[in-house]
Amino acid sequence: MSIETPSPELFPAAGLLIGERRVADATGGVHRHVYPGNGEATLDVAMAGAAEIDAAVQAARHALPGWKRLSPDKRRDLILKFADLLQANGPALCQLAAAENGMPVSKAAGHQWIAVDNFRYYAGWADKIGGEVIPTWPAQGLDYTLREPYGVVGIIISWNAPMALFSGGVAPALAAGNTVVLKPSELAPFTSLRFGELLLEAGIPPGVVNIVPGGPAAGSALVSHTGVDKIHFTGGGATARAILDGARHNLTPVALELGGKSARIVFADGDIEAAVRDAITGATSIAGQGCLLGTRVLVDDAIYEDFIARCKAELEKVALGDPAKAATQMGPVISAAASQRIMGVIEQTQRETSARLVTGGKRAGGALANGYFIEPTLFADVDNRSSLAQNEVFGPVLSILRFRSDEEAVQIANDSLYGLAAYLHTHDVRRAHRIAARLEVGNVWVNGTGFSPSIPFGGVKQSGFGRTGGLPGLEEFTKIKNIWIAN
Ligand code: NAD
Repeated sequence: MSIETPSPELFPAAGLLIGERRVADATGGVHRHVYPGNGEATLDVAMAGAAEIDAAVQAARHALPGWKRLSPDKRRDLILKFADLLQANGPALCQLAAAENGMPVSKAAGHQWIAVDNFRYYAGWADKIGGEVIPTWPAQGLDYTLREPYGVVGIIISWNAPMALFSGGVAPALAAGNTVVLKPSELAPFTSLRFGELLLEAGIPPGVVNIVPGGPAAGSALVSHTGVDKIHFTGGGATARAILDGARHNLTPVALELGGKSARIVFADGDIEAAVRDAITGATSIAGQGCLLGTRVLVDDAIYEDFIARCKAELEKVALGDPAKAATQMGPVISAAASQRIMGVIEQTQRETSARLVTGGKRAGGALANGYFIEPTLFADVDNRSSLAQNEVFGPVLSILRFRSDEEAVQIANDSLYGLAAYLHTHDVRRAHRIAARLEVGNVWVNGTGFSPSIPFGGVKQSGFGRTGGLPGLEEFTKIKNIWIAN
């Protein structure tokens, strides 16, 4: 029996959310949403064209003075009320998340909590944003700074983790007093639209957050709009280049959260069982469609074959299946096109390189045959210069590479155009510090991957610039004004 299509009642009301209006007859056309679990169409998504982007920016500009000047304690309380609604609506939001991009509900629950926590954390900042008093010389003055909101911010997010990405941008933007036009991907717009409804239900005034699903045309209209004061983008490198081109006309400031090809370095003295467990998340979490996953696993020569055997055994136990079921660990990839592209990478790797296919490498059959399921796939003996090791696969494919010294591990890890994250497994604390300091990445996790809304996250090199999370994530949405009073 194949997987059931999600019930139509699950989906939010049709149309974009501009102010408090739902706009169903938008000028950007429609996108037919297909459920990745079984390849069946669910409903048509209205897509923003330039006219709706303009209307959304006007709505955000109109709402700006009221939101910016609202007393910070009131802004804080409204954001907290919204976080409570996100928590209360958790189960339905997780089902909706599974329906929009095939993320298993068990994983979606983690993302829903990331969203709740981000809004609570940044609500706490709303009444604590201040400047500093600066001593001056040789001239005497009273000098101080103010941190002010940018104004209207355009937030563009990808389809792979909409609840987490929505909260990572919108929560600090609102806490700092900005208003927002958020463009989710047309592939996965539903949780963002539902979040928009809940923002209104929480009492956040219409126009403070506007939700305009759409594709490249909507995104580029937002980036080049003269009424947008800052762009916060999450997505791929090719789109990031188009965004920088669009932003140059108005010199709009941009933050870019892009992809990665992160290294997980497993030393022989580390907790090997924990390292295996964490390594397989690199292939299976959101079916490998995550920016920060440790997709290049660098393994110490001393434990190399044993580590591969253990990864193979664990990957073959992963429960692949219906995203709506609680027991499912891994769901489908986003679309037929993605499935074809990923299978192309697997076939090319087998055809053109000496990498050893250890497990997986096929589309799943049986009850899963109509959906976009690919078996968790492991390649060993991967050459770091190969396309598999250098480029994002964005699918359930893990690469294992061998290293023989700390020096070689660092050299391989850094031999990448990307620099998002790295993971270390070692019990030698001096080695952990020494190597973490040498890695060209924005985030290093040692002996496990923890998350907290209070930590900064983001990349270096072609993984982008700017940070989400923590105080740096708030500062992305404020600008500094300096005031000098002569005395
Ligand atoms: P994408 O770049 O294709 O699309 C991202 C967003 O940009 C979508 O909303 C899309 O509609 C929009 N867009 C497309 N063309 C545009 C244009 N010309 N102007 C403005 N906007 C445009 O990426 P994707 O396939 O949605 O997401 C996958 C990528 O995102 C991967 O590279 C992944 O690593 C990255 N990602 C990064 C992070 C992070 O925090 N660093 C998080 C999630 C995903």
